[in-house]
This record gives sequence, C-alpha cells and structure tokens, in this order.
Amino acid sequence: MKWLETIKTTHEREAAAIANNAEATEKANLHMFRLVVLIGLLTFGSLWVLTYLVDQFRAFRFTDIVLVLCFLAVYGFSRLPSMKAPSVLWLYCAFSVYAAVTILSGIFVTQNYVDVMIFVCLFQLPVLTLDRSLRVDLIEVILAAAYLLFVLPHKSPGLASTEVVNVGFFTASALAAGGFLRRTRIANFELERQSVQRETTDYLTGLYNRRKLFEYLGEKEKKGSAEPLAGILMLDIDFFKLYNDSYGHIAGDECLRRIGAYLLSLGQSYPVSFFRYGGEEFLGTSSNFNREELCCFGEKIVDELRGLNIQNEFVERGRVTVSVGLAFSDSPDGRSYEQLISQADSALYEAKRTGRNRAVVWHPGMSTIEQSCR
Ligand code: GH3
Ligand code: MG
Ligand code: MG
Repeated sequence: MKWLETIKTTHEREAAAIANNAEATEKANLHMFRLVVLIGLLTFGSLWVLTYLVDQFRAFRFTDIVLVLCFLAVYGFSRLPSMKAPSVLWLYCAFSVYAAVTILSGIFVTQNYVDVMIFVCLFQLPVLTLDRSLRVDLIEVILAAAYLLFVLPHKSPGLASTEVVNVGFFTASALAAGGFLRRTRIANFELERQSVQRETTDYLTGLYNRRKLFEYLGEKEKKGSAEPLAGILMLDIDFFKLYNDSYGHIAGDECLRRIGAYLLSLGQSYPVSFFRYGGEEFLGTSSNFNREELCCFGEKIVDELRGLNIQNEFVERGRVTVSVGLAFSDSPDGRSYEQLISQADSALYEAKRTGRNRAVVWHPGMSTIEQSCR
C-alpha cells in the first residue's frame, strides 16, 4: 500500500528532524508550556474575579478556580527536580488537565449552553505543541472524543448536535493549522542548524573548524565552567608538502579527509574534542585526562595514524606519519588556553626536531631537556 509507505516515510523524516533539533524543540516546548500556564492563570484568574462582579459569570466561579489551581499544580510539579521530563509531556499534561476541567464544567455547569473553553484547548494543543504529528493528532482526537463522550449525555439533543459540529470543526481546523505550523517550525530549526553547522564545521574533514575552536575555548575559560580545559593536543602531518607535491592536491585532500575521519571517530569514543586548526594541523582539547592519560593518548594517535598505512613512498618510513605536541595543566589558575596552545606548539616543534612520528609533552625545561612520552 503506497499511501501507508508515504505516511511511514513522512513520519520517520519528521522524527529524525525533531531528533536532530532536540535542543531547539525542547526550548520551544518549554516556552509554550510556560505561555499556556501563564495565559491560563491570567484568563481564568481574571474570569474568577469577574464572577464576583458580573452575575452572569457566577456559575463559572468553581470551574475557574479549579483550573487556576490545576495549572499552578502542573507548573509546580514540572519544576520539581525529581519530576524532570521533556517539556512536551508537561504541555500534554496541561492540555489534558484543561480538557478534564472543561468536561467537568460541561457536565455540571454549562449543560444549557455551548462551552467555549474546549475550543480554546482543542485549538491551542496542535498549534503550540512541537512533537511527532501522529502523537499530537492522536492526543487531540482523544481529548475531543472524551469531551463529546462525557458531555453530550448531559445536553439537550439540539445543543448536542451543535457541540458535535463545533468540536468537529475546531478539531479539524486545529489539526490542519497545527500540521502546517509544525512543518514550518521544524523546517526553520533545520535550516538554522545547518547554517550553524556550516559556519562551525570544516568542509573537507567534517571536524569543527578554527572559528568553533575559539568559541569553545572561550566557553571553557569562563569562570565556573563545569569542565575547565586541562590539556591541549596539537597534531601536524609530517612532510605533507612533499606528499602534496608528489601525489597532487587531490590526493592530499583525500589524506586530510582520512585523518579527519579517524579523529572524528576517536572524539566519539574518548572525552576529547578535535578541531581542524588550519592546513594540515589539528587540535584536540581535553578536560578529563590527567597528564599521563593525555600522554598515552598522544602516543596512541601517532601509532594508529601510522597504522592507517597511507602510502608515501617519497619518505623514509614509506607512509604518512604525524607528530603530536601535548600540553597539560591541572592548576585551576593556570588554564589559559593561549598558554596551553603555545606550550603544545613548542612540544610539537620539539617532536618535529627530534625526528617526527612521535608525541612530546611540554614541560618547563623543554628548550634544554627533551621529554618524550615513549
Ligand atoms: P613538517 O613535517 O615539518 O610538518 O613538514 P610539512 O611539509 O608537513 O609542512 P609545511 O608547513 O611545509 O607544509 C604544509 C603543507 O600542507 C603545505 C600545503 O600545501 C599543505 N596543505 C595545507 N592545507 C591543505 C589542504 O587543505 N589541502 C591540501 N591538499 N594540502 C594542504
Ligand atoms: Mg604545519
Ligand atoms: Mg606538517
């Protein structure tokens, strides 16, 4: 069945877009949840005051205060640390409470006329909620059906048919408007994400670029950063000019791509973030490794990159190798990234000077005493 396949593909694509933009989606739902609660409190709070001033509204006194208390309770629960949940669940919770109080009002207070509160609830839910369409639409239909199921038996036949038409109309238009808005908002999130990604990612290697590096280091250096910077690893491909001159720039690009892919996968398995620093130089930052671990990690990279076996018959070792300079600081006051980068650069220079294909860690006597991780 072709249409079933189309629905499945659309649903999968939407789920993937929401997952890719999880942070923006969560932020939007949190914002909407707060807005729904605030508008609910203001609307029903002021209506409650009106019940004392305008005779016609007296019947709503109980409903309004129950709704205000319910919104306050939902908001209070959502703020408890032990009740941490995605904001979309709290949005569903607020709308369910809203619908439940409206159903009670339909049964006990507004048997003799159309209750407009349910229309506001049914219209807002799909328009404001950012979630998979199937789930939003299903919850919308369940709330509309529950309202009709519980309230209709308490209304006159004429009023009941009006309610069915009204609820049906509001539900259908809300589903259509909500679907359109949701697609537009998710598409905007995706565009924004791709634009940020383009700005912060190196096109050739897929690693973060230098612009992202300095943003990241700036964050790390801020006072009170949860994970301050503790180590820098600077990596440079050995004899890369020769490789380029011998095999051509396209082969050089392919070599950079392979090294980038290796560092990218390494960054996913270890607590180190890698960036393309420029040209054939890469930089890794660590907050969790101690000096010894960082040192071994540098060694591992040198060995594993040599193990990639990228042929270079024009150098003595017969394949592409790299040199690594490392700098470490465990002093909370001494974690200026500029200082660490400069130290890692000196260590890298030392690694080049002492034969390449090795990792060297910086230490205060670097210029006079050589120290290798080996
Ligand atoms: P060393 O072992 O001392 O590091 O020598 P090296 O030849 O690797 O260093 P050098 O700085 O002399 O050369 C770096 C070369 O990297 C020069 C440049 O052509 C090449 N390069 C820089 N960026 C790119 C790039 O994006 N693509 C390609 N193909 N080559 C690049
Ligand atoms: Mg270089
Ligand atoms: Mg080089």
